[in-house]
Amino acid sequence: MTIPAAEDQLKFIANIQRILDEGSFVATYKFALLMALADYAVEKGDDSGDPIKLTTHDIAESFVDYYWRQAVPFAHGNESAPVGVLRQGTGRQPVVLSRIIEFHDKFNGSLSAARKDVGVWRILLKKVASTIEHMPLWKLQVVGRTIVPFLYEQHGMGNMIDLHHGVIFNFRRFYDLIRSLVEVAWIRHVRMLNLDLLGEADLAEFLFGTERTALAGLRSILKDVQSGECFYCGGKLREGGDIDHFIPWSRYPLDLGHNFVLAHSACNRSKRDFLAAPNHLEKWQKRNHVHGTILGDEFDTQGILHNQGATEKVAIWAYSHAETACANLWLRKDEVLPIDRGWRDLFSAAL
Ligand SMILES: [Zn+2]
Repeated sequence: MTIPAAEDQLKFIANIQRILDEGSFVATYKFALLMALADYAVEKGDDSGDPIKLTTHDIAESFVDYYWRQAVPFAHGNESAPVGVLRQGTGRQPVVLSRIIEFHDKFNGSLSAARKDVGVWRILLKKVASTIEHMPLWKLQVVGRTIVPFLYEQHGMGNMIDLHHGVIFNFRRFYDLIRSLVEVAWIRHVRMLNLDLLGEADLAEFLFGTERTALAGLRSILKDVQSGECFYCGGKLREGGDIDHFIPWSRYPLDLGHNFVLAHSACNRSKRDFLAAPNHLEKWQKRNHVHGTILGDEFDTQGILHNQGATEKVAIWAYSHAETACANLWLRKDEVLPIDRGWRDLFSAAL
């Protein structure tokens, strides 16, 4: 285990910035590729600093996720008519987006229904993996006439890459920062490609969304498993309660079933973007261990995406990085406490 030196970490961010500022972008694929790599690092990687091999197939699903919400016609506001699906490339719509638009129509916009049609889904992923290989993969690290091979060896062809020593570490360490940088660059680019349609419309919301907590069916499932009590304070839920992302959405946009809990609006509001204190974490872990499978079945019935393993990996990532940053954890109301190593005991099986 050799983690990159501070100086190399800074260089990594500078290179990300350089790709975003100086790279040429015919389509928006490079943005999706960068984010898919970052997501892979959080969901599958670790903090050892070790190099890793991966194929375009390993990141195809994440790539699809980014375009899924963008594959619907853009509307300025409630009153105006949609202006069509935004262009994501010069010339014709990029093939991945066109394919995803077809899937949107076929499955009425339900990503979980699309995934469940295993055969068709597999064909989509194969197509996307192949597009990643032939389009952005070997162009991402090209800046003007220079190649900046800071992420992986630039073979120039093939569907497999060797991420260098420290790359997974850096993606995990700087996930939030990289996400912000990529989103800003992606928004700027889409605006430029659609100047005629857009005006001053709020693209950030449309392209990347804020928390989407209006997940039909989730409330009743959670209410059952929580016996009608607020997840955090244990008080009775008189009204519907708020659906809360246990690992806050602002840290990682994890809309997977096992990440949700039901809480009083007041508890949810005071938790804000904090990670929850160990007592809450323990309760959450226990709930997912005891009821995980049943919850998974319920999520399936309601068409809610879930992946318990990935959810746990993201939680471990979030807490270990909070520990590195000496963050505070939320206990109740306006009480917070500094994080210590205690959270690790709760994940002893996985760490
Ligand atoms: Zn409460």
